[in-house]
Amino acid sequence: MTPKLFSPGPVDVSPETFAAMSHTMIGHRGSDFEALYASLQPGLKEIFGTARPVFLSTSSAWGMMEGALRNLVRNKVLCLCCGAFSDKWLDVAKKCGYEAEAIQVEWGQAIDPEAVRAKLSEGGFDTVTFIHSETSTGVLNDLTEICKVVKSFPDTMLVVDTVSSLSTVDIDADANGIDVCLAGVQKALALPPGLALFAVSEAAMERAKDTPNRGYYFDFIEFAKNDEKNNTPTTPCIATLFGLQYILEEISKEGFATRKARHAKTNTMIHAWGAKHGFELFAPDGNRSFALTCFTTPEGFDLSAFIKALKTKHNFLINGGYGKIKGTTFRISNMGNETEATMQELIDAMDDVLAQS
Ligand SMILES: *Cc1c(COP(=O)(O)O)cnc(C)c1O
Repeated sequence: MTPKLFSPGPVDVSPETFAAMSHTMIGHRGSDFEALYASLQPGLKEIFGTARPVFLSTSSAWGMMEGALRNLVRNKVLCLCCGAFSDKWLDVAKKCGYEAEAIQVEWGQAIDPEAVRAKLSEGGFDTVTFIHSETSTGVLNDLTEICKVVKSFPDTMLVVDTVSSLSTVDIDADANGIDVCLAGVQKALALPPGLALFAVSEAAMERAKDTPNRGYYFDFIEFAKNDEKNNTPTTPCIATLFGLQYILEEISKEGFATRKARHAKTNTMIHAWGAKHGFELFAPDGNRSFALTCFTTPEGFDLSAFIKALKTKHNFLINGGYGKIKGTTFRISNMGNETEATMQELIDAMDDVLAQS
């Protein structure tokens, strides 16, 4: 049996979600699909905090992370870099042929809004990329402050990745003035990978209209045109959409506020477990994700033996660090469907392994 995933994405998918996904296949150009599409909108709007439509892209998050650039960038992009995913966005921008610069902070630190203000004041940037919860380091950046700073520069488009924060904390895409807010579904929403969700501001739609060479697959205008008919430009991952419908129903039953509180609570449990064993948090106080925890590996601690024993003895998988902090950090996810009870099972298993070593 493959282990249950407590690594930060993909995360464990419930049997109920898989059951919902095994719905009889439907065609995507017809009323059954339109009803499915429409049924997703209220729940998605709530977790994004938007009155705008939420578009469905059959791709991983990176598809839309690249796609957003293709719709918006005219001259130069500023990438706010603080870990593996945000650093890679700079690389992707350059690979697309754009002029791009970075504000780079040390991994484990958060982006400083004043540094963003200073850099944007130099002029020339028309788009900013920003990752809310940097999944590689466990840093939760200050969404409200960063948005405030970027939005004080007219005609500067702000693209925000909420892959590992959406549905665990407030995003408030409209109130924060986010131009493109995007997420994949295999992290906090606990669905199988293959679907990205994104909301686009009116200003970003206007920008996209006149952007040349924005292609077809990720073209905002195509998504908006099809949304008017409760549809998508191309055949979407319909099974995953049935899964999403189920998850959104669950969020509605639980209540968004309760869901957020559950993530805060289960995250605290992992912090407390780490403190008990002398594992230090990699992210600074006040900038820590509520969806996952990144610990520094203590000197002399055999991390790979720990992860291996947890897997072979208890069939749980945690992550041994990502990118250049592989081995020197490790990460535990509490996102998705995890409860106090399931996190306690993991904690008991980790305690058991530590007691044996
Ligand atoms: C996982 C992750 C991504 C990449 O998602 P894919 O689905 O692999 O494209 C991007 N950003 C963040 C913050 C992530 O955690």
